[in-house]
Formats: sequence, C-alpha cells, structure tokens
Amino acid sequence: MKVIDTLNKAKDTVLSFEILPPLKGKGINSLYQGIDPIMEFNPRFVNVTYHREEYIYKKREKGYLEKVSIRKRPGTVGICAAIMNKYDVEAVPHLICGGFSKEETENALIDLNFLGIQNVLALRGDARKAETSFMPEDNGNKYASELVQQVVNMNQGKYLEEEMKDANKTNFCIGVAGYPEKHFEAMSLKADLKNLKRKIELGAEYIVTQMFFDNAKYFDFVDRCRKHGIDVPIIPGIKPITSLKQIQFIPKTFHISFPEDLSDALEGCKTDLDVAKVGIEWGIQQSQELKAEGVPCLHYYTMGTSESARKIAAHVF
Ligand code: FAD
Repeated sequence: MKVIDTLNKAKDTVLSFEILPPLKGKGINSLYQGIDPIMEFNPRFVNVTYHREEYIYKKREKGYLEKVSIRKRPGTVGICAAIMNKYDVEAVPHLICGGFSKEETENALIDLNFLGIQNVLALRGDARKAETSFMPEDNGNKYASELVQQVVNMNQGKYLEEEMKDANKTNFCIGVAGYPEKHFEAMSLKADLKNLKRKIELGAEYIVTQMFFDNAKYFDFVDRCRKHGIDVPIIPGIKPITSLKQIQFIPKTFHISFPEDLSDALEGCKTDLDVAKVGIEWGIQQSQELKAEGVPCLHYYTMGTSESARKIAAHVF
C-alpha cells in the first residue's frame, strides 16, 4: 500500500522506522535481527537508507596512492525486496540524486516498479566527504525537487526518451525530507520552506522530518508549513540516542541541537548504557507528547540498532 493511503486510512498514530543496509560483507540476517523485535508493534512501513559511494586512497607499490570508489552499505533495492518478501510490510527505498545520472535514476525506478515497490523517499543526498558542496552527476538531478519531477514524469508515462510511446506508467507515492531546524545550507527557514513547498507542488505527498529532540521545534515547523500552504502529512522523525559517540556526532552531522534538559542529562552519562537509558526516556517522552497531539506517524531512526526504538515503542504503542 502507498504510504499516503496508510496515513489517510489510519485512525490513530501509526509507527514506522528506518534501517541502514548492513555493512558490505555482512549477511541479511544481521538486518532481520534488527527488524524482528519491532514487528510486534505493527510498523506500516520500513524505510531503507541509500549510501552513496565514497572515495578512499589505497597505498600501492612505491608509495603511490590509488583513488578507489567504494560503497560501504550497498543493497538498498535488494533489501527492500527482501523485507517485503519476508514481512507483511511496505518497504520505502531512499532514492538520492548524488551519484546518479537521470538515466541511472530512471533504470533504478524501473527495477523498483518491477519489484512491486510503490513508495520512494526522494532526496538530494549530501556532498561526498572529500567535497565541500554537493555536486550532481553530469546529467543528474541537482535538487530533490528535480528527482520528484522525474518520478512524477514516470508516473505519467513520460520517460527520458521522449519518443517512447505508450510507456508503462509507474505508480510511486513520493515522500520528501523536511527540516524543523532548517536545512544547513538554506539561507533561512523561510527560504527552506519555499524549496520544500516546491517539492510538494511538484507531486510529493508527505514529508518526513529530520530528527529533532525538542517537540516545540516540530510543532512550530508544522505551523509554518501550514501558513506557507504546505498541507501534506508531516511525519516526525525520532532518534533514540544510544552511545557516547552520538552525543557529538548527531549535532555535528545532522545540524540539530539538543534541548538543555537533554544535554544536562547526557552530561552525566559515563557509558553507552547510561546514554541509551537517557535516550529511551527522552524518546518515550517525545513520542507520547507527539502521539497525544495526533501526529500521523512516529518514524524511528534506528541507525543500525533497534533495541531502543523497540523499548520506546513498547511504552507508546
Ligand atoms: P533538497 O530538497 O534538494 O534541499 C537541499 C538544499 O537546497 C536545501 O538547503 C534547500 O533549501 C535548497 N534548495 C532546494 N531546492 C532549491 C532550489 N531550486 N534552488 C536553491 N536552493 C534549493 N541522505 C542520503 O544520502 N541517504 C539517505 O538515505 C538519506 N535519508 C534521509 C532521510 C530523511 C528523512 C532526511 C531528513 C534526510 C536524509 N538524507 C539522506 C540526508 C539528505 O540527503 C541531506 O539532508 C541533503 O543535504 C538534503 O537533501 P534534501 O532531499 O532535503 O535536498
């Protein structure tokens, strides 16, 4: 079922979560072990992230360095097919502009369509680690809005080859990303909302937010979206913090801040277990308040470890 239909039909807040493909070399069972415990809470869809290639330098003979392109977490499309085959749940692959020409995107969408996958989250992706800003591929999409347009075109039977007649119309439901604390490159939240609205006007049907730890920021974001005429469902993204490393990593990587109460609680943590306990308590509080306010769905970022999301879900659902 399409995510938008699930959201429209639901009488109460539903649950969904996001997983990362396993690191190259690990089997799919490592992924199932993370999914199994959450299935009892009847998630309606599972998002699978996409990780683009990165360049690394390998030392060769005589000290030469060879630039090699590697993907540490391949397999998004295969994982989606495997999840839909094993569980009674929709899989939502993340599709990014980075690293893809429009033709490669078109071919990926054809594969997804053949597999019976009806949902995609359309994203731009970030710059490669070695680059200072995002660089689209030659003849690739530059912004998520262009990717949305490409998917919408295929839904209308318009492929890149304009002469193609009677081409199969795909039937994707498209989600996009939104940022309660502003996307870090945007001049202002207002400018960011203008760009978000463009994605909706082109045909995206719902928004999933970047993680946030202060519900007031989400409520304010939803208000601003509504005032700007963005009227699609806005799914809050919740990240249970699970390790000492994440205390620094999360604000730096995702350009978000912790509220003072949370940072005070985290300051007292000495071990990953202490952090996970705080993360679970915070996640429960956040989720209960959002659910009480009638959000359409609570979307949990597991980042490879689902135990905290499971404990939060056990309290909330
Ligand atoms: P866009 O909507 O294209 O926006 C990017 C920036 O450009 C914003 O500042 C926006 O305001 C601005 N902008 C947009 N359109 C225009 C325009 N026409 N002119 C000028 N400026 C414009 N990354 C991955 O690599 N893989 C994933 O699986 C992944 N999953 C994610 C899931 C969620 C829910 C979220 C919130 C993010 C995810 N990301 C993922 C990260 C995402 O790719 C980055 O945040 C990226 O920097 C922006 O992506 P976007 O789709 O929001 O881009």
